[in-house]
Amino acid sequence: MSKIKVLSCSGIGKVYGLMAREAVLEITNELKPGVTETVCLAHIVTGDAEAKEKIEGVSCITIDGCPMLCAAKNVELAGGIVKAKYRTVDEMKNHRGVNAGTGTALTEEGFNIVDELCAKVCVKIDEIIKEEK
Ligand code: SF4
Repeated sequence: MSKIKVLSCSGIGKVYGLMAREAVLEITNELKPGVTETVCLAHIVTGDAEAKEKIEGVSCITIDGCPMLCAAKNVELAGGIVKAKYRTVDEMKNHRGVNAGTGTALTEEGFNIVDELCAKVCVKIDEIIKEEK
């Protein structure tokens, strides 16, 4: 079985994009390194053959910053099977008024919100693995 691909959008300059990228790094490097990996969204958008080959027909999870869903849309366009889409802006709705940080650095609270999101994504990863067995 191919590793599940977990990709974030490239949102720069806003805390939502940074949260998405931190979540992907936490999942692929620390929480589920054996069964997941990430692919650079920019490579997919620019049509890099190797990046496209990695996601074509493969289960993917996307984490975007906002409703524009840049990662989800581009992964689907490139042939990835998006099994779940997350948006960090939605996570912030459960934490109104909390200072999660900026586009360049998360606060401790920001990292806590990322941890919560990662826990949800990990449940989904386990479901996908079960389905694909
Ligand atoms: S999903 Fe939103 S935050 Fe992420 S790259 Fe697209 S516009 Fe930027």
